[in-house]
Amino acid sequence: MAQPLRVLFVVSEAVPYAKTGGLADVAGTLPYALRDLGADVRVLMPYYGQIKQKNLPVTCVAENLEGTVGPLRLRFNLLTPAEDGAPFYFVERDEFFERSQLYGTPQGDYFDNLERFAFFCSTVLPVCRALDFAPDLIHCHDWQAALVPVYLRYRWAGEAPLARAKSLLTIHNLAYQGLFPKEKFPLTGLNWSLFSINGLEYYDKINLLKGGIVFADAVSTVSPNYSQEIQTPEYGYGLDGVLRTRAEALFGILNGVDYRDWDPATDPLIPAHYHPGDLKGKAKNKRALMAAFGLDKKLAKQPLLGIISRLADQKGFDLLAAVLPELMFRDIPLVILGTGEEKYHRWLEEAAPKYAGRLGVKIAFDNRLAHLIEAGADIFLMPSRYEPCGLNQMYSMKYGTVPVVRATGGLVDTVTPVDTAKGTGTGFLFEEYSAEAFIKAINQAVEAYQNKKLWRKIMLNGMKEDFSWQVSAKKYLELYQRLVSGPV
Ligand code: ADP
Repeated sequence: MAQPLRVLFVVSEAVPYAKTGGLADVAGTLPYALRDLGADVRVLMPYYGQIKQKNLPVTCVAENLEGTVGPLRLRFNLLTPAEDGAPFYFVERDEFFERSQLYGTPQGDYFDNLERFAFFCSTVLPVCRALDFAPDLIHCHDWQAALVPVYLRYRWAGEAPLARAKSLLTIHNLAYQGLFPKEKFPLTGLNWSLFSINGLEYYDKINLLKGGIVFADAVSTVSPNYSQEIQTPEYGYGLDGVLRTRAEALFGILNGVDYRDWDPATDPLIPAHYHPGDLKGKAKNKRALMAAFGLDKKLAKQPLLGIISRLADQKGFDLLAAVLPELMFRDIPLVILGTGEEKYHRWLEEAAPKYAGRLGVKIAFDNRLAHLIEAGADIFLMPSRYEPCGLNQMYSMKYGTVPVVRATGGLVDTVTPVDTAKGTGTGFLFEEYSAEAFIKAINQAVEAYQNKKLWRKIMLNGMKEDFSWQVSAKKYLELYQRLVSGPV
C-alpha cells in the first residue's frame, strides 16, 4: 500500500482544547475527517493555561526541546493528550502560554505576541525531529502560524525531516494579520533582507500573515466567495494586491460542520431533541431559552431572534445597535451571547436593563448556552460586515433556526435566499451594509414566520442541508495531493 500522506497542522487553537472562534472548530475537526480519508495528520498547538486548567491527562513525549526567538534558544516540552487516537501535540512553555487568554484581554493584545508565536513556529523543526515525522505538507493557519512557510524556505531549506515539506497557509480571517513594530524583526530570526515589500514588510511594520501569503506554496481561505472577495480593495485589508499576485495558488474551501456536536436530534446540551420528522421539541427549547434569559413569557408567540458572536466590529453590531430600538418597540425578543471588545460589553450591559423582558444579554463564552440559542431561537442574525465562512449560520440551519445574514463571504455560499412564493430557500440575505437593508430582511423573516406552513418549509429546507466535513476534507486532500506532486 502507498504511504499515507503525512500532514502537520500548525494552529493556535483547536476544540476541545482551546477556542476563541471558528478556527478552533476547524482545527479540532478537519484533522479527524482527513484521517478518515487515510491521511496521517498531526496537529501542533500551544499548551495554554486554559488547557492546563482542564486537568486533561497528558503524556510528555519529549522534554527540553529547543525553540528560538531571534538569537535566544528557549526550551519547551512536547505533550500529547493521554486519550487514545488524538493526534494532537502541545508545545509547553509556560512563560508564553500559561495566561488567562489566548491572544490578549479585552483591553488589547498581549505585548509579546510576536515572541510567543515566532517561538511557536520555530518549534516545528524540533517537534518533527522528536516525533520522527517527515511531513509531506505543513498546513498552517492564520498569522500565528504564518512564519512557518517563511522558515521552511529561509531557515530550514534542505533540513531533515522537513526537506520535502510543502506548505499551505489557510486564512481564516484576513483582518488579523499579526502586525508588529519593525524593531522586533530580529526576533523572527530572519535576515533583514526579508523585511521588504516582497517579503514581510507592510508600511514599515512586520506583517506575519503577508510573509505566509508570499512564501507558502499555496494559500486558501474558508469559503470560495471569500477567496474572491479578498482580492478586492473592499475586503482585502490592504493585502488584496499581494493576494492578487498569488491568484493562481489561491483556493477557497468551505468549512464544514461537525454534526456529532451540532445536531438537534442528538445534542446532549439541549433540553429537548427534535428532527425534520418531528419538530415539537423546538418549542420546549424556546421556552427554556426564554427562561434562561428572563424574557417575558407573553412574548412566546413572537419570533425569537438569537445572536452568538464575538463582539467585534466585523460582526455588524453597529447595524444591530441601529435596529434594536425598533425591534424592542415592536416587542420582538432578542437574545445575545458574546464576548469581545469592551465597548460592546458596555453597550450591551446598558441596553439589557433598559429592555428587560425583551432583550437577553449574556457576556460570556458559553458553549452550552450557544447550543440552547441555536435550538431555541426562531431566527438567527448575522449582519456581518465581512464573514470568511461563518459557522453559526450552518448550525442554525441544522437547528431549524432561520438565518438572516448579510450577503457576504461564506454566508453567500451557504445560505440560499428564500423565495416565499415558491417555498424555496434557507434564509434571508441583504446586500447593502446598512440598518435599512438589515431591518428589511428581518421584517421579511418576521412576516414569513406568521405563515406557519411557509415557515415550516423554510425550516425544513435548512435542516436538510448537508455541510458535513467529509465534503470539505476531500477537497483539502485533493489540494494537498496537488501540492505535494508539484507546483500548483
Ligand atoms: P468567528 O470565527 O469569526 O468568531 P464563526 O461563525 O466562524 O465566527 O465561528 C464562531 C464559533 O464560535 C461558533 O462555533 C460559535 O458558536 C462560537 N462562539 C462565538 N462566540 C461564542 C460565545 N460567546 N459562546 C459560545 N460560543 C461562541
